[in-house]
Amino acid sequence: MLTVEKTIRWLNLFGQKVEEKKVYLSELDQAIGDGDHGTNMARGTAAMKTVLEQKAYDTVQDVLKTAGMALLSKIGGASGPLYGSAFIGMAKQAGEGAADVSAILEAGLEGIRKRGNAEAGDKTMVDVWLPAVDAVKNKELSRERIDEWVKATEPMKAKKGRASYLGERSIGHMDPGAVSSGLLFESMIEEGV
Ligand code: ADP
Ligand code: MG
Ligand code: MG
Repeated sequence: MLTVEKTIRWLNLFGQKVEEKKVYLSELDQAIGDGDHGTNMARGTAAMKTVLEQKAYDTVQDVLKTAGMALLSKIGGASGPLYGSAFIGMAKQAGEGAADVSAILEAGLEGIRKRGNAEAGDKTMVDVWLPAVDAVKNKELSRERIDEWVKATEPMKAKKGRASYLGERSIGHMDPGAVSSGLLFESMIEEGV
């Protein structure tokens, strides 16, 4: 069960991890993109932190929606609308009543897929979201598994986003969006969500 307090702690920890890994995330993006994923994400999560501190929240839906709007408007690039869609999808689901985490995350994944049309194996954040949603459903989410999904993007050939312009040359590098999404799921485990 997701509560307002838990959701805020989860998202703040995610923001903290993004800030800590900002340089690394941009380095990963340098290899197969334009080198801005870390700065994009850190700008978004900093804005998210600010709005989460600005007022008191009554519902999980309100927390996720406000966070999503901040991410959508501040991350920029391809990942801004994708994270934004994920959070807005999660907020809508949270509004349907019981704040069941796996249903909420599934709605987030749906938001990402509707927006970006990526499938499993396309070397995107979907390659972490997809197995993570499943694992949460089966109560099998673990740090080790998250690491495996993230690393599994390394041998993939990118079929979506900027990295796809590189074709074969995208092989051999981890996908930055998969790494940042891994931080979101790691934060869930650490906050007991
Ligand atoms: P940009 O590529 O515009 O500079 P970022 O560097 O912030 O944006 O984000 C790149 C990340 O976005 C990729 O690593 C990938 O995970 C994700 N991404 C790009 N396109 C898609 C898509 N169509 N579906 C899902 N994720 C995508
Ligand atoms: Mg980029
Ligand atoms: Mg960019």
